[in-house]
Amino acid sequence: MAEREKLGNFTSSDAPKYEDILQCMRCGFCLPTCPTFSLTGRERSSPRGRVALARAVAEGKLEFNQAMKEEAFFCLDCRACTTACPSGVQAGSLMEICRAQVSQQQPLPKWQAGFRDFVLKKMLPNPDLLETSMLPARLYQQLGIQWLVRHSKLLKLGPKWIDKAEGMMPELHQPLRQQLPELSPAKGEKRGTVAFFLGCVMTLMYAEVSRQTVKVLNHQGFDVITPKAQKCCGAPHMTEGDRDTTRQLAKHNLDLFMDLEVDAIVTDCAGCGAALKEYEELLAEREDHQRLEVFHSKIKDISEFLAETGLRTEGLKAINKVVTYHEPCHLCHAQGISKQPRDLIKAIPGVEFREMKEANWCCGSAATFSLKFTEASQKILDRKLNNVAETEADVLITSNPGCHLQLAWGLREADMTQPVQHLSELLGEATPD
Ligand code: SF4
Ligand code: SF4
Repeated sequence: MAEREKLGNFTSSDAPKYEDILQCMRCGFCLPTCPTFSLTGRERSSPRGRVALARAVAEGKLEFNQAMKEEAFFCLDCRACTTACPSGVQAGSLMEICRAQVSQQQPLPKWQAGFRDFVLKKMLPNPDLLETSMLPARLYQQLGIQWLVRHSKLLKLGPKWIDKAEGMMPELHQPLRQQLPELSPAKGEKRGTVAFFLGCVMTLMYAEVSRQTVKVLNHQGFDVITPKAQKCCGAPHMTEGDRDTTRQLAKHNLDLFMDLEVDAIVTDCAGCGAALKEYEELLAEREDHQRLEVFHSKIKDISEFLAETGLRTEGLKAINKVVTYHEPCHLCHAQGISKQPRDLIKAIPGVEFREMKEANWCCGSAATFSLKFTEASQKILDRKLNNVAETEADVLITSNPGCHLQLAWGLREADMTQPVQHLSELLGEATPD
């Protein structure tokens, strides 16, 4: 691959494209949609301000300084600004690229870099190691230590993020990757074959949710192939600015899934779906374009897939509940999937769907944002919880593990009684065994 020309004060490797930066015409349409601008009222924490910072660096008028670094990480990468932008500016993606610049231009102290590299380059790309690393957390729950820690309120004495991280931990089960057969056969009249992309967080933390995804797909008439050799989609690496490892993971998953003869590659994790769809751009300079296009066209969120193929509703059990829906940013803004989950919810017999205000406003999770910026994250979450409360719904539906963790924790802390469910759980509940 030819090395790109150096752009101002960006290093040449993994720098933004100048033409992408120039697309911003400073109209400000994005400002009311940006959670960090809404919180701070500060221009530099808005999409327009972030693009202006990047432009100044690209034109050599500004060093890649502390402000640039802070804004790269303070951006939630929620992509709400891209949905609003008449010029198609992708401020969130631009900030992701700037995070890669941070690791090149302002390297972490040695011990921190060592830990980061271990997690990103050794643990996450190795499913066996990743699954083993969760064993202490499962024992912590099963031996009752978690109960003691929570009731002693010991963690309230330490940094807020530790208490929050512990509080967010869902009930852990055996990782699903080890349990799912390579082939789960369709039930009833067969309509096709799909591959299942089982994200790391889903297999480790929401195994029972993804089990429902497979059950629903089988009941809808699809054979489901779950390749055991699949690896992390690379989204955490992208978020932390490690684009080299993202590319290695992308190449691995691309080769693995393109070898399968399937109609679609389905995922129930909005973050994974968005990352998989971005392989096309990520590998554009290294892979055959047509192959990337085919791969991209096969990636489907579970809601997108079921809406396209048509939900078979005969035999579904009634669920007599009032349901509201929080849109994960990586589903509605990054993938443009907004109507499909609502249509599926409404198609379940007995369900009363109640729209919440600002359903597509971020919940404040945004990968590690919720732990790095606990106060800002809490304020964004409070806004969401107020909107949930107004609906008086029995259940809150979403379809991304990051949102699920944040919302379930927030509801519990606020003494709100609604459970959070993944769309697959709701569909699974309506699906006969
Ligand atoms: S990012 Fe888009 S919406 Fe925001 S100021 Fe620039 S052109 Fe306008
Ligand atoms: S991605 Fe979200 S947080 Fe980042 S600039 Fe855009 S709207 Fe603001």
